[in-house]
Amino acid sequence: MAERFKAILISRDEAKKQSVDVVEMSPDELMDGDVDVRVEATTVNYKDGLAITGKSPVVRRWPMIPGVDLAGTVERSDNSLWKPGDKVILNGWGVGETHYGAYAGLARLKSEWLVPRPERFSARDAMIIGTAGYTAMLSVLALEKAGLSPKQGPVVVTGASGGVGSFAIALLAKRGWEVLAVTGRTAEADYLKGLGAAEIVDRAELSEPGNPLAKERWIAAVDAVGSHTLANVLAATRYNGVVTSCGLAQGMDLPTSVAPFILRGVTLVGIDSVMASTERRVEAWQRLAEDLDQQVLESIASDIGFDDLIPTAQAIVEGRIRGRAVATIG
Ligand code: NDP
Repeated sequence: MAERFKAILISRDEAKKQSVDVVEMSPDELMDGDVDVRVEATTVNYKDGLAITGKSPVVRRWPMIPGVDLAGTVERSDNSLWKPGDKVILNGWGVGETHYGAYAGLARLKSEWLVPRPERFSARDAMIIGTAGYTAMLSVLALEKAGLSPKQGPVVVTGASGGVGSFAIALLAKRGWEVLAVTGRTAEADYLKGLGAAEIVDRAELSEPGNPLAKERWIAAVDAVGSHTLANVLAATRYNGVVTSCGLAQGMDLPTSVAPFILRGVTLVGIDSVMASTERRVEAWQRLAEDLDQQVLESIASDIGFDDLIPTAQAIVEGRIRGRAVATIG
């Protein structure tokens, strides 16, 4: 009898009303791809929350199996890049948006989307990190490539207790940066200091409309929040500082002026994890393997089961998840 596995399926009816169900599927129902990967762990990113709640148009093909991140083992490969037994990671590439994603026992993918899982990480470790940790690493690498170093001054991290924020704090602190952590959850101060934050900043200080230039406070920033927060981060960035932008937890708008750029030489660097080249992904995952202590991974992680993926997706868009929720499967 053909194998059956559990999957989460997002569907739309004729009135474009979205529903989300746990279903059973067989391998022949999967989309095209030259590699089959047995999914061993996955996670819930903010984007998965948006897809499952339908709050933003993440899904662009129906029905869709959501889940933008997975770690697993290759079961079948029609490409010489991979062979059965290889341990792999998948982040992004439109998986969970236009191609069936991670919330299933089996994923059929394109071989060029996969990266090897660094040996020191289990499938669970890799999914504690997931797109959030890998994006935090891309942000740190961007600051380094721009020539910044901890001796030039402090770095600010927004959305601090979320996935990207938690990893950005840990990765920057590990390399010697003085990290200011911006959070709406000041009760999480001990958690953020445990990750390496030197100071906690209440997000209310940065979330309202502000002046185009403000007192200079930091030389670098990792922003996962966008909107007024990013505008205020830019306004308080020191001369020749660098700000990376990856997220929109407050909003997609950027109500600022050119003042920080033309009067203080500030650089704004965009970070995209979804279509980043394999070379950049491999570099980021190698640095994650070098820089992340196991104890940091454990303090960021909360373990959930497959059946918790849907409620956790709802919780993340309501800002109720600290760090990273990881589900091991099978
Ligand atoms: P999380 O939900 O885990 O973290 C987001 C954090 O932002 C929250 O924990 C909260 O931190 C803060 N936040 C939430 N709502 C608001 C608000 N209204 N105003 C100010 N701060 C707010 O999400 P992730 O870390 O997974 O992702 C963060 C952002 O980055 C998302 O927008 C996501 O879509 C984006 N992203 C982009 C990627 C890319 O490739 N460009 C890749 C990965 C993520 P606190 O409670 O501490 O204030």
